[in-house]
Amino acid sequence: MVRERGDLPVAELLELANRVITNLPSAVIYFKFTCEKCGSRQAFDKPYLLYSHGRCEECNHITNIKTGGFILAATYRGMDWRGEKRIGQERN
Ligand SMILES: [Zn+2]
Repeated sequence: MVRERGDLPVAELLELANRVITNLPSAVIYFKFTCEKCGSRQAFDKPYLLYSHGRCEECNHITNIKTGGFILAATYRGMDWRGEKRIGQERN
């Protein structure tokens, strides 16, 4: 199995993702995994969903996902129409 530096076991990954979402409610996360055949990084299209298997867009191999990471994206969710904070999270 290819494990890219930074990939976490699924249990740790979900724990970290939960912590991020709890502390940063405007965050949207997309889970990623490393293809076990060709080693390319793949991300799932749907936010917050980590599947048990993922198909590689490069080589079509299906990886049984045991480790992974996520992309953290910011949105305007939780902001009013002027883009001001409505829910008191900090932004740096
Ligand atoms: Zn692949």
